[in-house]
Order: sequence, then structure tokens, then C-alpha cells
Amino acid sequence: MSKTASNNLQQLSLHSLESRDDFVGRHIGPDQQQIDDMLAAVGATSLEDLMEQTVPANILKTDAMDLDTARPEHEVIEELADLAESNLVYKSWLGLGYHNTLTPNVILRNIFQNPGWYTAYTPYQPEIAQGRLEALLNFQQMVLDLTGMELANASLLDEGSAAAEAMALCKRMVKKNKSNVFFIQSNCHPQTIAVVKTRAEHLDIEVVVGDSAAGNEADYFGQLLSYPGSNGEVKDLTNDIDAAHAANSLVVVAADLMSLMLLQSPAEMGADVVVGNSQRFGVPMGFGGPHAAFFATRDKFKRSIPGRIIGVSVDSHGRQALRMAMQTREQHIRREKANSNICTAQALLAIMAVSYAIYHGPERLKTIASRIHRLACLLDTGLTKLGFQQTNAAYFDTVAIDTGADTDDVIARALEAEINLRKLDDHTVTIALDETTTLEDIDDLLAVFADDKVDFNAASLDNPQLTSLTDELLRSDAVLTHPVFNSYHSETEMLRYLKRLEDKDVALNRSMIALGSCTMKLNATAEMIPVTFDGFSNMHPMAPKEQSQGYLEMTTNLEQMLVACTGYDAISLQPNAGSQGEYAGLVAIKRYHQSRGDFNRNIVLIPRSAHGTNPASASMASMKSVIVACDELGNVDMDDLRAKAAEHADNLACIMITYPSTHGVFEESITDICEIIHDHGGQVYLDGANMNAMVGIAAPGKFGADVSHLNLHKTFAIPHGGGGPGVGPIGVGQHLQPFLPTNPINPVDGLDAGNDVISSAAYGSASVLPISYAYIAMMGSDGLRRATQVAILNANYMMGRLQEHFSVLYTGRNNRVAHECIIDLRPLKEATGISEEDVAKRLMDFGFHSPTMSFPVPGTLMIEPTESESKREIDLFCDAMIQIREEIRLVENETYTLEDNPLVNAPHSLVDIVELEWNHCYTREQASFPIEAIRHSKYWPPVNRIDNVFGDRNLVCSCPPIESYMD
Ligand SMILES: *Cc1c(COP(=O)(O)O)cnc(C)c1O
Repeated sequence: MSKTASNNLQQLSLHSLESRDDFVGRHIGPDQQQIDDMLAAVGATSLEDLMEQTVPANILKTDAMDLDTARPEHEVIEELADLAESNLVYKSWLGLGYHNTLTPNVILRNIFQNPGWYTAYTPYQPEIAQGRLEALLNFQQMVLDLTGMELANASLLDEGSAAAEAMALCKRMVKKNKSNVFFIQSNCHPQTIAVVKTRAEHLDIEVVVGDSAAGNEADYFGQLLSYPGSNGEVKDLTNDIDAAHAANSLVVVAADLMSLMLLQSPAEMGADVVVGNSQRFGVPMGFGGPHAAFFATRDKFKRSIPGRIIGVSVDSHGRQALRMAMQTREQHIRREKANSNICTAQALLAIMAVSYAIYHGPERLKTIASRIHRLACLLDTGLTKLGFQQTNAAYFDTVAIDTGADTDDVIARALEAEINLRKLDDHTVTIALDETTTLEDIDDLLAVFADDKVDFNAASLDNPQLTSLTDELLRSDAVLTHPVFNSYHSETEMLRYLKRLEDKDVALNRSMIALGSCTMKLNATAEMIPVTFDGFSNMHPMAPKEQSQGYLEMTTNLEQMLVACTGYDAISLQPNAGSQGEYAGLVAIKRYHQSRGDFNRNIVLIPRSAHGTNPASASMASMKSVIVACDELGNVDMDDLRAKAAEHADNLACIMITYPSTHGVFEESITDICEIIHDHGGQVYLDGANMNAMVGIAAPGKFGADVSHLNLHKTFAIPHGGGGPGVGPIGVGQHLQPFLPTNPINPVDGLDAGNDVISSAAYGSASVLPISYAYIAMMGSDGLRRATQVAILNANYMMGRLQEHFSVLYTGRNNRVAHECIIDLRPLKEATGISEEDVAKRLMDFGFHSPTMSFPVPGTLMIEPTESESKREIDLFCDAMIQIREEIRLVENETYTLEDNPLVNAPHSLVDIVELEWNHCYTREQASFPIEAIRHSKYWPPVNRIDNVFGDRNLVCSCPPIESYMD
């Protein structure tokens, strides 16, 4: 071997050792060559140079973030495995709305661990989302069946916030009652009470918590009852509800889905709203989340229901097709008049829960519920034999045991046996059984109470006489009768049903989803793996802290990482979506002002371009939105800002500003804006949804902002799940730290126990936090900074290519955009009649998801490629857009008519092009294979353009009867 060759070899092996696990290089789409090519194309000499051209000098930082250097995948997975293992997963029969469950493996692997489901986006573009829309419609049907109500939404964030939303609905809809007081039955779950109380206080609603509203002189506009009670007691609520109605009060029932397989429905008892959590339908507890809450109500309240509703409509060929109903009442249109600030919800978890119901079907579900109930009866019998008294007159799965004076003893003995029981009060423990409970468990439980052994007859599990429920408490109606719940009980059938649905949709595992503001980046497999570790997924959120040390170490580390990324001083991981972060941040601001004796600061300045959740969150905190104008360049109009800040100086609470702006621009005046607000006594809420343009290059906590939410499901790699889960932590400056949210059962360290409670669980959607943890650990400070730089490069490169064919609406200094750009289609529409919607639908024929349509500016598309997309994919997308521009030109020069062209007829389904008749002035090939690149891998939209208006006029939000599938 020659000397040079051996030297090369040495260099080679050293080099490859160093980069033996270059996660950064795999997360970031373009390689160095592509980066160099794109830099040349945009006219920058380096990524650093591009940053200097793009980011205001007074916020651009060059020092590293205080993070460990990037670590290899397998090491990070191992570390998370260790953390998961340091959680002690005891048998938790604590109840409190969280139960052990057995996730069917066909669901675990084919939904929860399947990027076809978890990397999809909220179904704003219904033609490429028919699969998840059908799954969510099924979820609504399941909730309707079990609650007996007329209308259900497609999930909310958790049971506590669903109950709070229900209270707000009652206030909006109650007719003949002027009361401002909401009654909460004390037998509701403590965390639900706490979340509702926080929400009520900031809505200036008074709350009374008590045993029963009956015989109470006071007048209530609404009431919250629990069914079964938090202690497990099952009671017919008909009389309470009748009495409430007689007093012109509306009634919300928080119900348990599993028990509703047996118990008479809340609707039958007269409930106006039914809320709850679908967790125990196959979704692991995950230390509090994510799981899908449900919300069901009367048809007459349909215009007032929070969250998203899936509805049935028709496509342009008159075939049945699904889409989100009543989108015009969505938050970004209603703004401060919105019913709620909910945006991201819990789509993926709702889909898991309904899949559990579909897979098991009504018979098996009834068996599961009956078995749980009889096990509880066996436990009751055994404990009675041991001389204990069971105090619930009737129960489903939860027995309440009078321990005499020995409650703490019993709890301690249980802990020794690695069992968690709930201490209800000084002389009562409750034991909530679940699907995983066995006869052995019953033995173990009895042994906790007494050393004597109890013989019970295991065969009695089959005895229908073994029950604590009288006939009057049981339901007699059939549930889950729709064919969808009666067709897929074998694994083969289930597998194929899920695959059929998945194949209808476009998710990130098919093509780029360049949704501006939504940051659809890679959700790496290595990041996803730890979520299903036993130690993370099976922790009960209310288990004693000694058992959740692994979680607490993980959350503490993650908080430190996010502090490093944002420049803030403290983080709360509790909010389980960006919207909840906004609310938590505004509440903290309000508390801060109050702590300084400022009780009147209730004005929020909001630039016109803001996301709809901003004004909606402000209303929830009883703050008044004052809109600040934008100038013709899309930036905050500084004169208007100064004038409004001065005008409202005495009452100014804060500004809510998105940065970089929702126009995709680094506004040069951001530090001035912060200064003006502070000078007038206000705080700066910086909406951090666009943090993907800032991590490592600018730190909001350092350049003047006081609080931000982050969307971990945008910037920090948690997948969007087709509309949730999300995590919306807030970062705050030191002065706001004392006002972060806590939890009534597992209080957050370092906070006053009386603080506000935003979500049901202390750490919100804790079980998906390992995703962001792994992302940050594998990227390190340099990797994260580079990701931001490439996100900005990709956007500027894309803008450069598109600018020659479309008009780009806003740019900043040096004609640069941040991480996204807005293409203005209004001039083309004026000239040709072809709209932004036509372009969005036509992109589907190319296999692409449309960019964000008509937000923040109507008639535009906002495009955000993210750092994860390679130059190849970006070029393909640009080719598609340019081809579409050529098609528009053919309408312009009248080669095509406005009535018949590939744009207005888009998307084209497979059925379209195989039909014998083809009466269009363009060919089948032009319709479906408009560019060469898709010839070998074609996505076929399963339906044609969907008629939204028809669906809203003929609102159907349950599964259509089977005949309707047969035409
Ligand atoms: C996504 C987004 C939100 C809302 O976040 P969710 O997690 O969907 O609740 C708020 N503001 C902006 C600018 C966003 O892009």
C-alpha cells in the first residue's frame, strides 16, 4: 500500500467514526451540495451570510445554546429507556378518569406507530383526507351512541377542558336564566373541578361546589354532574336534571365511556351536554395524555359547539364525501367571537379509541364492561366478608371502602404490594378496576386489607346475577349497531380497513406538506420509539411522585432544553396545544398585573394578521382585543401601534404578536415593539408557532418578549396526528414564573398550590414529550441552529423559483422571507377566474397537499417547506406549481374555458379517467399525469371536489346508513 493511500484510509475511517450517526444530516433534507446550490441560487455566500441578510441584526445571536452536543440515535433511545424504567409502574387502581387499558396490537402498530396516520395534518383539505375524516366520523358516531346525544365533535383536549368548554356553552345557550353562577357537584374528579374553576374565574363566572344543587336556594345557569361519581357511585340523575331544568338551568354530565356500555345514557336522563375522556378505549394513560376527550350535545346547540365537527357532504359528481362541517365558524374566522380557542385537538387518539370500539364491536365491548363490573362485585363481596363496608349504593367499576381509621395504613400496605389506591377521605379508599384486572389482582387487593384469605367463587364471574346495578340503572337501547362497528372483528379485516382508510390520505410519508405556520417537518422514527415504552405509556398521572421520577427527570431536562432554545427563564409543559399555551400565558400575565395591584389591565393589542386563536384566547381570559393595523408591506403599522398603546396605556395588558410574523417576515421593528409595550405597562406575548425560524438564531426571551407558547408539534418534531395530539408549553421570564399552572393532585414543584390549572394533568400530554426530548438531544445546539438556517434557506430558495411565476406578497429586508412565503393568487383570479382553491385542489393531482390556504390573507397560499425537505422535493413542488401556472395561462388565453379546465375540475379521481365518456378539452393524461415525475408513483384522490355548502345546509355528523354506501 502506498503511503498516500494508507493516509487516506486513516482519514476516511476517522471521518466516518466521527459521523457514525449523523442524525442532523438525516433530519435536514438537503445535503451540503444541495445547500451550496440553493445558496448560490438565492445569492448568499453561506448560511451565516443568509442569516445576516434575513434576521434583524439586533436579535441575531451567534453564541451556542446551552445544550449537549448532538448524540446518536441509539444512545438517546437508551437514555429514554432508562428514564422510562426509572418510573415505577405499579398497578394503579386510582381511577380519577384514568384507567389501565389493553391497546389492541393491530391498533398499536397500524395506527399509533404508523406514519401514514401520525404524520397527517388536520383535514382542512378534505379530498386528500377522506380516511381520517371517516375515522373521526366513526368517533363521533361512537360518542353519539354511548352518550345518546344528538351531536358530537371530533375530540377535545382533555376531560377538564371539555367540562370547561361545556360550562361556557351553557352560559352562551341558557335562555331564561340570568344567573352568573355555575354549580359543580363535589363528586366530580378534582382535576376537572380545578380546570373548570380556573376557566370560570377568568370568564368572571362564579362557581359553587357542593354535594347537590337540590334544595339550594341559589340560582345556577348550569351544573356539572359526574356519572359515575368520582367515588364510583352510580346514581340515576334524572331527578337532579329535571330539577335543574325546572330552574332553567342547563346540565353537563361528565361520563365514563366504558360504563356507558351498561348504564342508561346521560341523554336518557336529560343531559344537555355530555363530556368525558375516551382514554380507556385502548389509549395508554401516558402520565396524563394525550387522549381524546369527547363533547356531545343537543342538535339545537350545534352552532355553539366548540372544536371540530366532521360532517357528510357530496362531491362534484354527487357522491358522498366527508369534510369538516361549518368551517366558516372555525376559530380563525370568528376570532374574538369564536366559541372557543381550540385549534389542534386529539385526532390521532380519537381514531385509536374508535378503532378499539370498531375492532371489539358492541358484543365484545359489553363483555369487557361486564367483566370489569363483576370483578368489582367480587372485590366488594370479598371485602365485605373481611368485615369492611363498601359504601357506594351502586357502582360500575369502582368500589368505595370504609377503612375505619386505617386509611393511611391500607394505602401503605397497598404501596408495599406495588398497588396504588385512592384515598378519597380520611376513612375511605376507592378502588377502580379496569380491563386489565385479573382474579389474581382481586386476591392481591384483598390481601392488602387483611391477612386472612378469602375464598370466592371464580365461576361467579359468569353469573349475571353478580351485579350492584339495578335494572333501572341499565340501558336497554342497542348501541354501536352501525355496520362499521360490526364488520371488522377479525385482525385481517381490521388491518385491511385501516389500510384502506390510510391509503385515501396524503401524509408526510407520501410527499411534502408545505403548510405555512404548521411546520410539517420530519417526525423521526427514533423520536417516536420511546413513546410506547412501558414506563412512559402505563404511568397513571396521579400516582405518587416517588413512582414517576423518570418522568420528572425527563420533564425537568426538557424544560432546561427549551429554556436554552428560547432564552426564557422557566417553562410549563402543562398546556396540551398552542391554544392552551396562549391561554396559560395570558392568565399568567393577568395574575402578574394583579400581583402588582393592576386589576384593570384587560386590553390586548393584536396585529391584524394574527392567528385566530390569539383573539379567541384573549376573550377566554376576559381580555378585550384591540386590532393594530399592518402597513402595505405587511408589517405592524408602528404609528398605529404607538397610538393604540398610548390610548390604552392605563389598561394595557399585553400585545400578542407572532414572530416571525404570520406573513413570514422577520419584522425589523420587533425590539421597538417590545419597548413600546413595556413603556406603557404591558407585557409582550410572543406567539411562538413560528419558532422553527428562530431556534438557535434568535431567542425571544432575550430580545424583549415576556412569554411565548411553543408548538412542540410544529417546531419540536411531535407529529400532527391528523389534528392532534399537540403540546403547547409556555416559556416565561422570571417575573411570570410564579404564575405558571399547577395540578390539584400532583402539584408542580416550586409553585403555589392555589395557582391556576389549565389542563387535567400536571404535565399535559406527557407521554409524547420524549419525542421533543429525543429531537433536541439528537440535534444538539449546532444541529438545531443549522435546521433553522436550512428552513430559512429552503423557503427563500422556493420563493426565488416561484417568484418568476407568481407574485409573492410580503418580503423583509433584502427581499428575504423567514421560513415561509405567501403567494398571492388574487391577481390571477381577477384576470382568469381561477382561484386559490382551484390551485390547492389541482396540487392533489400532483400528489401534493396544498399549502395553507387563505391564512393569514384571503386568496393566497402560504408555503413552508421546513428544513426536512430536500432540494429535490422542493423542486418537484415548484415544478408542479409552475405547471399549474401554465395551465392558468391556458385559461387566460382562452385555450381552456373557465368552465372546463384541469383546475376547476380538480382533483381528478381514478374513476374520472376510466369512465368511458370524456368530454373535456384536455386529455385524461393531462388530468392525471400532469408531470412526468409522478408516472411511477401516482396518488389518486378518492373523491372529486367536495361541496362544503351542501354539507352545511344538510348537516349530518353521524355515520350515514349503510345503504348510502351502495349506490
Ligand atoms: C398553530 C398556531 C396556533 C395554534 O396552535 P394549536 O397547537 O393548533 O392550538 C397559534 N398561533 C399560530 C401562529 C399558529 O400557527
